[in-house]
Amino acid sequence: MGKVIAVANQKGGVGKTTTVINLAASLGVAEKRVLVVDIDPQANATSGVGIGKVKPSVYDVLVRGLQLGGAVVKTSIPFLEIVPSEIDLVGAEIELVGIPRREFRLRDALVDVRDEYDYILVDCPPSLGLLTLNGLVAADGVLIPIQGEYYAMEGVGKLLGTIRLVQDSLNPRLRIEGVLLTMYDTRLNLCKQVLEELRRYFGYKVYKTVIPRNVRLAEAPSFGKPVIMYDALSKGAQAYLELAKEVLSRDGKEGAR
Ligand code: ATP
Ligand code: MG
Repeated sequence: MGKVIAVANQKGGVGKTTTVINLAASLGVAEKRVLVVDIDPQANATSGVGIGKVKPSVYDVLVRGLQLGGAVVKTSIPFLEIVPSEIDLVGAEIELVGIPRREFRLRDALVDVRDEYDYILVDCPPSLGLLTLNGLVAADGVLIPIQGEYYAMEGVGKLLGTIRLVQDSLNPRLRIEGVLLTMYDTRLNLCKQVLEELRRYFGYKVYKTVIPRNVRLAEAPSFGKPVIMYDALSKGAQAYLELAKEVLSRDGKEGAR
């Protein structure tokens, strides 16, 4: 059964979507079957893997109860499929309120497809609303990207509080999958301090792999490609391949399927 990892941090622009796209593609390189579920109305993960506006989308799954399998789209990236998002999803935060099992919509929808994938990565929006809650309730693990910057830890307490609430009531099996330092700049002392602080706070949960600030990572989405298909030798591509290895080895799943 596939492992569901929600990539979440209510702070905007910390590298959630970049991590989802590039970790997914890197796991695909290792011949793991990967499904990305884009639950952010900004739909950046969708466009980032080269998919335009399509119907049905995750909106139809979460709000209208469409079977998730009916919204899966193949990408040009090996082993990688996606349930796309669209701007209509903005309304879902409100529309879901009146729907039964509103926090369980994604989890319920994934039941039928979990066996078809090794990993299911959920790209959450920058908020702690019902959409992110659906991601956390559906997940086995939450991967928290944290940007190497001065206010890096700001809001992390609130995120951990939400994770704890979910563990206590809606999804007791939820674990912190890992904490990932993103946009790391080796020239900045500040980045080293953030890494040390993360290690003190989260211990072994912090991935050994850190993601460097790398312009290729920022350029690739405008070509609808993960960075390994845009510039495989770039530092960004190499870092996400390394992260995929680390994720697989933590799961005892190195090597081909
Ligand atoms: P949001 O909260 O809006 O969903 P996010 O957490 O998903 O944002 P991204 O969209 O992944 O963050 O990244 C924010 C911006 O920073 C994007 O323009 C992205 O291309 C760029 N970016 C992300 N990671 C890196 C990196 N390691 N090096 C350089 N640029 C990066
Ligand atoms: Mg995003």
